[in-house]
Amino acid sequence: MQVLLPYGFAGAYSYLEPEDVALAPGDYVRVPLGPRQVIGVVWEDSGDAGEVEVSKLRAVIERYAAPPMRDLHRRFLQWVANYTVSPPGAVLRMCLRVPEALGPPRTVTGYRRGGPQPQRMTPQRARVLDCADDRLAWQVSELAEMAGVSTGVVKGLVDAGTLLPEALPPFAPFARPDLAAGRVTLSKEQTSAAQTLRAKVAARAFSVALLDGVTGSGKTEVYLEAVAAAVAAGRQVLILLPEIALTAQFLQRIEARFGVPPVEWHSAVRPRERERVWRGVADGSAPIVVGARSALFLPYDNLGLIVIDEEHEPAFKQEDGVIYHARDMAIVCGSLGSFPVVLASATPSLETYLNATTGRYEHVRLTARHGAADLPEIVPVDMRAVHPPAGSWLSEPLHAAVTETLDDKGQVLLYLNRRGYAPLTLCRTCGFRIECPDCEAWLVEHRFRRQLMCHHCGHVAPIPTECPACGNEDTLVACGPGVERLADEVREKFPDARLTILSSDLVRGQSLREAVHDIAQGKHDIVIGTQLVAKGHHFPGLTLVGVVDGDIGLNNGDLRAAERTYQVLCQVAGRAGRAEKAGRALIQTYRPDHALIEALVAGDRDRFYGHELSTRENAHLPPYGRLASLIVTGSKQGVLQDFTRRLARKVPQTALAKVFGPAPAPLALIRGRHRIRFLVKAGRDFNIQGFLRAWLADIDVPASVRVNVDVDPYSFM
Ligand code: ADP
Ligand code: ZN
Repeated sequence: MQVLLPYGFAGAYSYLEPEDVALAPGDYVRVPLGPRQVIGVVWEDSGDAGEVEVSKLRAVIERYAAPPMRDLHRRFLQWVANYTVSPPGAVLRMCLRVPEALGPPRTVTGYRRGGPQPQRMTPQRARVLDCADDRLAWQVSELAEMAGVSTGVVKGLVDAGTLLPEALPPFAPFARPDLAAGRVTLSKEQTSAAQTLRAKVAARAFSVALLDGVTGSGKTEVYLEAVAAAVAAGRQVLILLPEIALTAQFLQRIEARFGVPPVEWHSAVRPRERERVWRGVADGSAPIVVGARSALFLPYDNLGLIVIDEEHEPAFKQEDGVIYHARDMAIVCGSLGSFPVVLASATPSLETYLNATTGRYEHVRLTARHGAADLPEIVPVDMRAVHPPAGSWLSEPLHAAVTETLDDKGQVLLYLNRRGYAPLTLCRTCGFRIECPDCEAWLVEHRFRRQLMCHHCGHVAPIPTECPACGNEDTLVACGPGVERLADEVREKFPDARLTILSSDLVRGQSLREAVHDIAQGKHDIVIGTQLVAKGHHFPGLTLVGVVDGDIGLNNGDLRAAERTYQVLCQVAGRAGRAEKAGRALIQTYRPDHALIEALVAGDRDRFYGHELSTRENAHLPPYGRLASLIVTGSKQGVLQDFTRRLARKVPQTALAKVFGPAPAPLALIRGRHRIRFLVKAGRDFNIQGFLRAWLADIDVPASVRVNVDVDPYSFM
């Protein structure tokens, strides 16, 4: 029989069936692999296992108690592997992140009150007994935490026989959502949008809908109606968010709507909770999962709807290991499982937009902000005319707007997508630029941490006092602004304002959630933020957004630079004026006549999208054409170059695809590995996976070289 193992081998492995149990495809099993024992999944027989001598086969050791991997899950896994040109085992590895969940749940002992009073009573013991109950059993650690005592105090009461042991069900069950709990009254436009989505859920068939609504139009309220419909029909729901949007604020909204918190799945979820979630997803008892892209690979029992919020976000693209786009794979999952997929965005990706405007997806629009709120006024600040003095980043008009807003008790967001103090440190005497020793990249000064840091590999170094090249002192200068440097200027110009910086290296995880919460509560007057603030947050008091450098993203030069910049600026501007007070956004730019800035100012997204689409169409680029990248990396430059030359000679001959490269990647060195890229460009209907497989077949890759396949690339670095 065939067993798929969670490794990058070419296919499934053959094993003998154990004597005592009959196995079927999907069963999770333990098998020997060399000297080790590993987890695998019984796979459909592909029929080509005949070459292995039966006498050499080893037997499956045991079957796990977990519900077998469903047929849909296995087809999905196989589909992802084919599409991304990855070994199925590598995809299986993404599905097996919680091996503990496969075995029977381990029993846990709880304690309840019931025995005689202890001979010696202390205030601490009394507190524990106050917390303990004669009906419910609690774990020792829980009782200790509730009573604010050490676990020793609780154990003392156990030894004294006052607390009685009892086997606990190991995992708390998931609460059922109350579908009527926090229902809001929808506007006419929202009602009709919700109706459309509910009908899709009721149809129990595959469909994709784009919920296209301006920021603050109530997209979340609307898609939660579809979620309610799916849960009412007994189906599970997955809401995918870019990880950064998984804030307490969002989770609380779900809780407010359904009376219970959603089930979370992302990198910060603790191991034991992961196990609980995995089991609940597999047995169907976890109703609403809110997660980052990896939540797509959980073993759903009965999935009936996937919502992808902020569908345009590049964070849905996984860039290492199996390189996939969670939005695209979610749509595949809906198609294999015959259920609807809802994509929500105020600034859809061009791929999705084209599908919606050509009728392939249903296009559901929300045109107005909810309630009294209007969209913010967007004003360009032409930096060619009002260039601030050297070392300063706030132009006079932006400075004046901040002053006005603060006088008006409004909150200000200054957006600058650059972490640290300054992106470059330069020697004024010899022109030396401080670079990372392992990457082809400048080191970024982080003055708060007193370090220079590489944003590609994490390399850190102290900030030198003299130039490493010419040895002169007092000659190093910081070039350009990062959020920390901008903060210096803001503190100087607005000394009385309460200031906070929201940047991923200053706040993370839980404290990020708290920081976002504090901003929403109005505890800060001025917020300086990187991309972190752009996504989905609702800050009711925020009335002014200042974009410090509206041109940053445009200098990237990749095919989506203008699209991305438009999306980010629109989202950032959309943080302003979401409640009663009107909002405005000032965008500092040296290119006020660029089509995207003009479109932002005019509020004419569709014109800009139309313009972008025709540019792409003329260049046969996505969404009108297909791309795939090969990124070949190696620690030894000579070996790498030999290999890529061999690869270049093996390009399959066809008039339907064009291969560019080999060429050094824009980031030609990361973590000491040299990087060379190929780009395949073809028509929309070309079988690019078949082409890549033919190209890479039978090529022996030297041990120091790795080949990564990126179908539909988003990063060209
Ligand atoms: P979007 O996701 O489109 O940006 P949200 O769903 O976050 O918009 O809605 C913006 C704000 O308006 C939220 O605070 C939301 O609770 C509120 N809101 C939207 N629609 C309604 C409604 N029908 N009734 C009450 N509040 C609403
Ligand atoms: Zn580096």
